[in-house]
Amino acid sequence: MPEQRYRRLRLVLGDQLNQAHSWFHRVDPETVYLLAELRQETDYVKHHVQKLCAFFAAMGAFADDLADKGHEVVHLTLDDSAEYADLPELLAALCRRFGVEAFEYQAPDEYRLQQQMRALELDGVSVAECDSEHFLLSRDELGRYINAGRHNRMESFYRKMRQRFDLLMQDGKPLGGQWNFDAENRAALTPSDLAQIPEPLLFANDVSEPLRRLQEHGVRSFGKAEESLLWPVTRAQALELLQYFCTVCLPNFGRFQDAMTGRSRHAWSLYHSRLSFALNSKILHPREVIDTAIDRYHAASDEISLAQIEGFVRQILGWREYIRAVYWVNMPAYAESNRLQASLDLPAYFWSGETRMNCMRQSLGQSLEFAYAHHIQRLMVIGNFCLLAGIDPDAVDRWYLGVYVDALEWVEMPNTRGMSQFADGGLVATKPYCAGANYIGKMSDYCGDCEYDRRQKTGAGACPFNSLYWDFMVRHRAMLERNPRIGMIYRNWDRQDAEQRRLTLERADWCRNNLEQL
Ligand code: FAD
Ligand code: SF4
Repeated sequence: MPEQRYRRLRLVLGDQLNQAHSWFHRVDPETVYLLAELRQETDYVKHHVQKLCAFFAAMGAFADDLADKGHEVVHLTLDDSAEYADLPELLAALCRRFGVEAFEYQAPDEYRLQQQMRALELDGVSVAECDSEHFLLSRDELGRYINAGRHNRMESFYRKMRQRFDLLMQDGKPLGGQWNFDAENRAALTPSDLAQIPEPLLFANDVSEPLRRLQEHGVRSFGKAEESLLWPVTRAQALELLQYFCTVCLPNFGRFQDAMTGRSRHAWSLYHSRLSFALNSKILHPREVIDTAIDRYHAASDEISLAQIEGFVRQILGWREYIRAVYWVNMPAYAESNRLQASLDLPAYFWSGETRMNCMRQSLGQSLEFAYAHHIQRLMVIGNFCLLAGIDPDAVDRWYLGVYVDALEWVEMPNTRGMSQFADGGLVATKPYCAGANYIGKMSDYCGDCEYDRRQKTGAGACPFNSLYWDFMVRHRAMLERNPRIGMIYRNWDRQDAEQRRLTLERADWCRNNLEQL
């Protein structure tokens, strides 16, 4: 570490790798930037090893890049920071060592870190917070778009965003005369589609050093450890992935957005962008991702339909910004919500992938292999299973926050606790996203390769999702029956033969008591 003295210390967190931030517009020899691998960040939840390596490698690359541009940089690895209990202790020590007068940080996107930063007191050093200059909406204006404590429709939010940022608009109206082309998307994959799934663009970043550090410092992790990391960790790699997505995947992005398969080598990536790590670490800016995709749509509109580009823009301009707004207006109470009073533990196959349920084996297996699953696997397979089984949302949150390379609490929690587990009682979703084998069978080929029978609700060979689905409906009848989008389901249940209903609930009861054996 340099012994030099500086006037100002600026902290760059692992998810603040935004080269375009105004901090970096000017080189100031009196300002030193700090990037630090910290035990408080590796240990707040048990992480997938590739997630830890991706953040460490991206931080290292960012530090090198800043130094190449002439900035003063201190990059501390776990080897250097191990002697400090936490971030405040490290900052206090560095402020003393460098004799700084001022400390500055970008507003953290996670509540936990924001609380820590705002409580910071550094002897004789001024402390100032600034914007991370990443999101389309500033933190201050979120409350104008989303009301705390109640449901806010994503679709209304998205339309306002389209208008405000003038994206896919023509003369003040949505391009193509419609806001949302979702109905044209969502096809299942036919055998000929399977043969055409593109090979994903993968990188081969050497992470043997971060891996060594994690091992030597005894950091607990899970998932497949690889010395060669496939995720983009530099700005050049992130831009290459963005270009690859726009040229190769965007023409089919929305069309197969909900499709799932276990019958292709590239089943895990399909037509998804896999840009979430580059976005959430702020290597890429959401606006540049949207603009690049729209430019590509205009240049190749014979290949890319309006439905495909609209679907993609909606994910980033709509869902991503909406989810962040829900998080901030509802924290910290949001983290405590458990409206369905779910309380079971996660079964061990969440860490091994070893279960007889093929849909879960595939989705968990690829999560453990790549630290990635696409949205429908997260929502309608893994999340759906947790919801139906009644798993404690704290445990579900911890798992999701640990396993995915893109998982940061501001985006993970409203998706998991809200959209997927309905623990927020409907702040994100108007009804629980739950389904039996019918849905999974329609959107995937998983059921055809499963030991369980997707058509059965009762008996030892029956698909667990079927009985658990009805059991979930029955357990939460008082809360859900009056929901106009659900009432019909109860009429269907009431019409079923009484003995059939009894056997269905008996099978569900067995499943819930024997989750480990499924
Ligand atoms: P694509 O399918 O290519 O979509 C493009 C981009 O749109 C994504 O990169 C992402 O930035 C954005 N996006 C799409 N859907 C959402 C959404 N619902 N919320 C926020 N952004 C969205 N996303 C995360 O970034 N981090 C998480 O920790 C996370 N946890 C999730 C947990 C659950 C239970 C569910 C149901 C969803 C979760 N998502 C999370 C949202 C979504 O599944 C991922 O953003 C997406 O799968 C990332 O892969 P991709 O980049 O290939 O996305
Ligand atoms: Fe999953 Fe049931 Fe289909 Fe098996 S039969 S893959 S458990 S939904």
